[in-house]
Amino acid sequence: AAKAAGKNRFLRFHPDMMQALVQRTHMESGLQLAVPRGEITVDFQPIVSHRMGQVVQLEALARWDRGGERVPPSIFIPLAERTGLIGEIGAEVMATGMVQLARWLSEDPSRSLAVNVSGVQLQEPDFAEGVLKLAEASGVAPYQLVVEVTESVFFDADCSLIQQLSALRDAGARVALDDFGTGYSSLGRLQDLPVDTVKIDKTFVSMVRTGNERLPILSSMINMAHSLGLTVTAEGIETAAQADYLTALECDSLQGYLFSLPEPGDRLGQALSHAEEALHALKGR
Ligand code: C2E
Ligand code: MG
Ligand code: MG
Ligand code: MG
Repeated sequence: AAKAAGKNRFLRFHPDMMQALVQRTHMESGLQLAVPRGEITVDFQPIVSHRMGQVVQLEALARWDRGGERVPPSIFIPLAERTGLIGEIGAEVMATGMVQLARWLSEDPSRSLAVNVSGVQLQEPDFAEGVLKLAEASGVAPYQLVVEVTESVFFDADCSLIQQLSALRDAGARVALDDFGTGYSSLGRLQDLPVDTVKIDKTFVSMVRTGNERLPILSSMINMAHSLGLTVTAEGIETAAQADYLTALECDSLQGYLFSLPEPGDRLGQALSHAEEALHALKGR
């Protein structure tokens, strides 16, 4: 029936819809060339341990510089997932992250690199093998890798996905549950998931304004994770009050603009020293 309507079908598009469609098609073809053109780069954001008083991890975050214009990951990652380009982009981020951090990682075995991985990538039967090969080639130990997945990947979790995560964990890598609390899974489901860490989403952290509020949801999440033997990272720490509050709840690691923005590899030194200064300022409070 749609075909019978023929060309006239297009007339039913609102001009805004038409423009959006053209833009999306344009963006899609641009994204196809992004990796070969070297437009995908990686920024790194420090994750600090208050207890250890240092930066313990860096999270790799994909960036797309499309001819001088930055397209945010919230736009191009879902597009890459829909168009099947996420495998290529994800591999690029993983390889770049390992190469750029190999030295920093080799200086201290307790340091690690976190990389976001989409459910689509975990459908690949040789995903874990590929990651471990990349690590070996870059001189990065598997136990220095953290794979970040969101709760949604477990929504219709098949064997392949669990197999890939298990293979990574068997080799010593860790799995972190990103944006924890925003998905559909309940706290109770946490014990069934093959994860080592939960990352409390920034929407919960942003509820801490003065540091004097009572936020049982935050303490419940942290206590539950700890009782299951998981470590906890809080995302989106922007103020000292938030850092103090989460530290008082015994959150293991903190990440956010208070410590550092995500920065490209050539500004890693500045990002690390900024994060460490912010950490010392907290200790002095
Ligand atoms: P995410 O993995 O939860 O990463 C944290 C996001 O929060 C990043 O946004 C980071 O820049 C931002 N952020 C960090 N600290 C703060 C803070 O203090 N306040 C606020 N308001 N935001 C903060 P970004 O870089 O725009 O990335 C957005 C999302 O895109 C990521 O969320 C992740 O889900 C996805 N993403 C990024 N890179 C990749 C990738 O290589 N592969 C996949 N599959 N997803 C990626
Ligand atoms: Mg993440
Ligand atoms: Mg997150
Ligand atoms: Mg997020």
